[in-house]
Amino acid sequence: MTILPTGTAEQPLLRQLAPGVFARQEVDNMGWVDMGDSILVVDTLEQPTAEAAVWQALRETVGDRPVGWVLNTHTHPDHVALNPAFERAGAEIINARTRELPASGLTVEGKKRSVQMLPMPGCHSHGDCVVWLPAERILFVGDLFGWGLIPWMGNLTGERKQLIVDTYRRLLDLRPQTLVPGHGPLCGDAELRRWLDYFLWLIDQAGARIRAGIKPAEIDSKAIPPPPDMLDWWRFRQWKHADSLKKVVKALARNRAGL
Ligand SMILES: [Zn+2]
Repeated sequence: MTILPTGTAEQPLLRQLAPGVFARQEVDNMGWVDMGDSILVVDTLEQPTAEAAVWQALRETVGDRPVGWVLNTHTHPDHVALNPAFERAGAEIINARTRELPASGLTVEGKKRSVQMLPMPGCHSHGDCVVWLPAERILFVGDLFGWGLIPWMGNLTGERKQLIVDTYRRLLDLRPQTLVPGHGPLCGDAELRRWLDYFLWLIDQAGARIRAGIKPAEIDSKAIPPPPDMLDWWRFRQWKHADSLKKVVKALARNRAGL
């Protein structure tokens, strides 16, 4: 097994985050945790063709043990492709569709450790959850963190903005050390905090221009360039900043009073 430092590589990298805790990092990420007698898997990619490679990575890292649970951070197709394969192998599939998750979350107990699944719905999809390893301070955050993307894909409203802000504060309150986003490189809580500041800054900057009577179409990445310290964020400069700015400007043009 190769363990490589954080990078932007889009070849699968296997990374050990703590003893018995692994992430397979690619464009789509997944992870697994040695629970003692069995393995807990977080998210299952987009391509069913990855099945053989994933089983092999499991064997190489935690040995030939059964997968007891699959936890999905949400049920978009790029997070659930191998669910049927794991289910056939006897795993219990846990996500917002397969069961009613209590708002306070649920804890999966293994012999070695326990893992928490915490619902934080409405920031990216209606069934968002994060998977939290409190002892190791590792957070599988799914698509709530998108390296500069606003997680909600629909229209941004004042209510949605507030939900995103409140959810980020909850995530920060956990004080995670290692963050495994649904896609791209891994990071820590500094990036969570930075994105929250960026999001609020973007709303301020665009709002000031809208109120000054500048046409929405003129409020682009030239008018509000990406912050220098975020230029090397994964795919941020290429398109994510422009996408986030467009969403904010569109929302503010509809709600001139602000978000
Ligand atoms: Zn998604």
